[in-house]
Amino acid sequence: MQFIETRGNNGVKSNKVNFSEAILSPSASFGGIYVPESLPTFDIEFLTKHLDSHYKTLALDVLQSFEIDIDESTLIEALERYDTFDNPINPVPLSKIEEDCFVSELYHGPTRAFKDMALQPFGYLLAKEAQKRNENYLIMAATSGDTGPATLETFKNQDNIKVTCLYPDGGTSDVQRLQMVTEEAENLKVIGVHGNFDDTQNMLKELLASDDFKSELESRNIKLSAANSVNFGRIIFQTIYHIHSYLELVREDEIKMGEKVYIVVPSGNFGNALGGFYAKEAGLPVEKILISSNINNILTDWIESGEYDLTTRELIKTESPAMDILKSSNIERILFHKFGAKRTKELMDDLATNNKFIMTDTEKASIQADFSATYSTDSECEDEIGRYAQQGYIMDPHTATCIKSYREDREKELKTIIYSTAEWTKFSVTVAKALGQTDITEDTKALEWIKTNTNVTVPAMIDGLFHKEIKHTLIVDKEGIKEEMLKFL
Ligand SMILES: *Cc1c(COP(=O)(O)O)cnc(C)c1O
Repeated sequence: MQFIETRGNNGVKSNKVNFSEAILSPSASFGGIYVPESLPTFDIEFLTKHLDSHYKTLALDVLQSFEIDIDESTLIEALERYDTFDNPINPVPLSKIEEDCFVSELYHGPTRAFKDMALQPFGYLLAKEAQKRNENYLIMAATSGDTGPATLETFKNQDNIKVTCLYPDGGTSDVQRLQMVTEEAENLKVIGVHGNFDDTQNMLKELLASDDFKSELESRNIKLSAANSVNFGRIIFQTIYHIHSYLELVREDEIKMGEKVYIVVPSGNFGNALGGFYAKEAGLPVEKILISSNINNILTDWIESGEYDLTTRELIKTESPAMDILKSSNIERILFHKFGAKRTKELMDDLATNNKFIMTDTEKASIQADFSATYSTDSECEDEIGRYAQQGYIMDPHTATCIKSYREDREKELKTIIYSTAEWTKFSVTVAKALGQTDITEDTKALEWIKTNTNVTVPAMIDGLFHKEIKHTLIVDKEGIKEEMLKFL
């Protein structure tokens, strides 16, 4: 299958590329991104065939249904990355929290956040493709906490790939920072930046746009790629667990094959939700995709009003920082799928020029046919964390935003899957606060208190972080980033 561009073709780039090209150079004409030319079919027949399949078997068939230009043996090796998850046979377990509500836990990988689901196998594929072509790539990440550790972990010690990772000093949890600064490998560079996440991300964007920096890279024979969810190589792995979670409900006799379900997705850049949308379009019996957000609720406004408006907004720091996002990159793929390249370019150009776009009533209705959205405040999330902790289930603040969607956004009484995107251990101070411990400010103390006072355990990789040697101590001002990167390269 070929991949095409969301904003049409500029006559310079090729108008169709293979999967391997789309993942190595993910930016398309006019600032657009790549999408599959068509979608495979994941209908009842496909689902029935996989009723007894292990995750990796299902995954291989899903990947091959997209007819991508990667050998079967390479795909199998990439999927072996799931062997490092808590349970290799079932990397995504399902927990029942209500008679009709189930949590699909996407965080059982090496960095305890759902980013591992896609980044683990994707990192392997990207590195293998670079090695095969004998090309060198730089991946630059700016992180507010979860993307950084997952990107470093997947690329460490991979030939032909170098990774630089910027994080805002003081802007992440202790666990997230330690996951990055204790990572040891020749090809990784972690830099703390004085400033907040916005400063860090803006600095990265400036560098990416700078001709000077590009020619420095060229002179070193290094190409740029990206490992964020604009890269379709991440999205393809994010269709699999939606199908898997549905099959889990069938296997556990909670639904009959073909019965519709709701899925609830805590959303930021909309990669997770897009994976669900593609699965639904391909035939997975999903009634609607319920989008949950925090107070940075631009997705709620977009889906409810049809307007995507940045002019009235400033980013607000919340207790679910991975969703503190205003420019959500994957809604572009939804616009393309529904309205085509010409209209997508129009809307995205409006957003670039006027900081807003407005859809027609017909377009809005089309979005609302697949999605509804709602958001929760931090204190609403704390209440939900506290409530479920009393029933013996500990969830993180991102997952907690899903509860309101489950309670208020369903129009029918159908079984519901909510996605848990991070383990509570990454946000233990907030969880301790939700359990009444408002004075605890350090992760070590919060982890200890929760472990002692509830029935949960802390995985060894989190406990171990506090004793690991710190390998990256560099913290610089924004102005110093470029020099440090070039030194590393
Ligand atoms: C990245 C992330 C999200 C948002 O996912 P998108 O695919 O960007 O919408 C939600 N929760 C956590 C914990 C994350 O790390």
